[in-house]
Amino acid sequence: MRRLLLKSLVQGPLTEPAPAAGDAALAELAARVDRASRRRLGRTLAIREVDAGSCNGCELEIHALGNVLYDLERFGLRFVASPRHADVLLVTGPVTSNMREALERTYQATPDPKWVVAVGDCARDGGVFAGSAACIGAVSAVLPVDLHIPGCPPSPIALLTGLLALLEEVSFDTRAGRAPERQS
Ligand code: SF4
Repeated sequence: MRRLLLKSLVQGPLTEPAPAAGDAALAELAARVDRASRRRLGRTLAIREVDAGSCNGCELEIHALGNVLYDLERFGLRFVASPRHADVLLVTGPVTSNMREALERTYQATPDPKWVVAVGDCARDGGVFAGSAACIGAVSAVLPVDLHIPGCPPSPIALLTGLLALLEEVSFDTRAGRAPERQS
């Protein structure tokens, strides 16, 4: 125990280094998201985050987008409290049985056009929770997913890159009327 305490005193933080102040690459990436959003939607992008059963690791990275290091609201990226105000649902975690109905109702409450982004490895295929009796599995088992951002968890830069890819490459037209394949 003493060794562990000493080690934690001398060892530096294990987190990734913060982006440099005035990071040009980050600013350019965020500005491209804003431009693409204004071109596609005529305004800035509104995001509703839905935790469908994650360990909260993905949430920590999503929240980092709004902290003082990334501060992406300066580029117009907004997290909204209600799905009725959202363009994008960012869904994390494997979908648990208890969250299935809430996720479906959140999707139904989001006005068209809307996109669903599955964030993290758990959202893709259940990840480390795959096979659990409490989990349904991937987000795509419940909702039509437009984009998957891999990682456990994906970094804020990966999230931003994914949102840009969504805005630049996913067509609204292909979303209309698409229904998920439900799994029981
Ligand atoms: S992908 Fe990793 S960080 Fe995200 S919910 Fe799953 S286990 Fe947690």
